[in-house]
Amino acid sequence: MQHTAYTVLLAPNPSLMTGPGTNTIVLGGGVEGASVIDPADEHPDHLEAIIKAGEERGDIRRILITHGHPDHIGGALLLKKRLGVSIYAYSRQGVPFADEEIADGMTFPAGDDTLRAIHTPGHRFDHLCFLLEQKRTLFAGDLIAGVGTVVISPPEGDLLDYLQSLARLQQLEIAEMVPAHGPIITDPQAKLAEYIAHRLERERQVLEALQAAQGVASIPALVQVIYVDVDPRLHPVAAHSVEAHLLKLEREGRVRRGEAETWTL
Ligand SMILES: [Zn+2]
Repeated sequence: MQHTAYTVLLAPNPSLMTGPGTNTIVLGGGVEGASVIDPADEHPDHLEAIIKAGEERGDIRRILITHGHPDHIGGALLLKKRLGVSIYAYSRQGVPFADEEIADGMTFPAGDDTLRAIHTPGHRFDHLCFLLEQKRTLFAGDLIAGVGTVVISPPEGDLLDYLQSLARLQQLEIAEMVPAHGPIITDPQAKLAEYIAHRLERERQVLEALQAAQGVASIPALVQVIYVDVDPRLHPVAAHSVEAHLLKLEREGRVRRGEAETWTL
């Protein structure tokens, strides 16, 4: 029986941060079994949908995790209990209950194809993307978002690492990207270029706002200026984003910490 390369199951966990919810992926099958990427949520209906999609492919043999955020690892332990399979993640530091750690470049069987793990830190230190090598489909986790934007929140998020991960993906031939949130992206290279341009534009705004404040400002003051058009409910998130930019610029020697929670050019 022929299967599509992968099945996307939308988890019932919509929110301000997850958009419509998390995309759980079921792929592969045949003699080497199927894999699940990001079980995402422990709602019984969602777990049943995952198990059913796995049975149609010939049983789930492994659970793969893109990174240790709750909206990705949710359901993993219950699914493991039901199926008796191992949980794979980049590190136990990222996902404490992982049974196996995934090194960069490690491969998994995926039907007629092969799934390759790519370590892409930035959104979180333990972030992995997974590439179907023949089909050139990238399961992008939270590196790229189909809707909304990717949050880089220090200390676990690192903007310099994130930009380097985006640049690494630019070197790959990718036909389509399946993000953890939102619809499939059919123009991956344009999206990657757009993401990099967006971050560099934000960096320019941070530097400009610092300059306008005579070279010294606090993060909340910078957020007020830069995110003037953004829903104030998102300002705490924006503060993390501005901090991420300042930490990147600090690593590059372009800004430094001033007195009393301020930053200086
Ligand atoms: Zn995340």
